[in-house]
Amino acid sequence: MPLHRRKLLKTSAGLAITAFVGGQPAAASNSGSCQPRDPLKNLTEGNQRFCNAWQEAARNPSTNLGSELQNNRCFNAPQTLFNEQHPWATVLTCADSRVSPSWIFDTTPGELFVIRSAGNTAFDAAIASIEYSVSILQTPLVMVMGHSGCGAVSTAMGEAALTPSLERLISPIRSQIANSPDLAAAVRSNALGTAATLRENSTLLRQAETTGALKLVVSYFDLQTGAVTLI
Ligand SMILES: [Zn+2]
Repeated sequence: MPLHRRKLLKTSAGLAITAFVGGQPAAASNSGSCQPRDPLKNLTEGNQRFCNAWQEAARNPSTNLGSELQNNRCFNAPQTLFNEQHPWATVLTCADSRVSPSWIFDTTPGELFVIRSAGNTAFDAAIASIEYSVSILQTPLVMVMGHSGCGAVSTAMGEAALTPSLERLISPIRSQIANSPDLAAAVRSNALGTAATLRENSTLLRQAETTGALKLVVSYFDLQTGAVTLI
């Protein structure tokens, strides 16, 4: 099977992208793993593919979302993942079952390092996990992603009685969404607050951002359109 057969594809949005046919990565490193030259651009292009498929499936219920996406994907060969990983982006996002970064960015195993908890808060475990991904795995991009219809943020906006554990989960969200006029604004405010907490509470991440080893971005995923936009 040819390993490096390229094909120029166009998405329905008319954006030209280069992809490989035959299960090989779009931008292979010497180790044969998927390593894009521009991680943020790669996330954006992957989301555009997902977005097109998501919207097509919304218009036409018979559309198979997986079939719509499978031809454009980069795949790490299993043997490159047996003993090591080289993810090119880290995503801190919500535990919501509809918010799957691998799907949303049209990626495959070995590409994204993902940390999730309801409300995408920068708890100590999340900060430590991101420090690991940036310092040991050397991921050059960290994205904090909130999403439309977030139940954790919605809970933080309300006054319902919570269990002690839930109160600890919701408390930092409450402190980050004060005076937000609606849920969408609160989600954005919460994601921005999480990014600020990462910078405040991690010298390692702050220094990596200063030296240019790390790019930290914040985004909002809209379930209606499938689009992820930077905020
Ligand atoms: Zn959520």
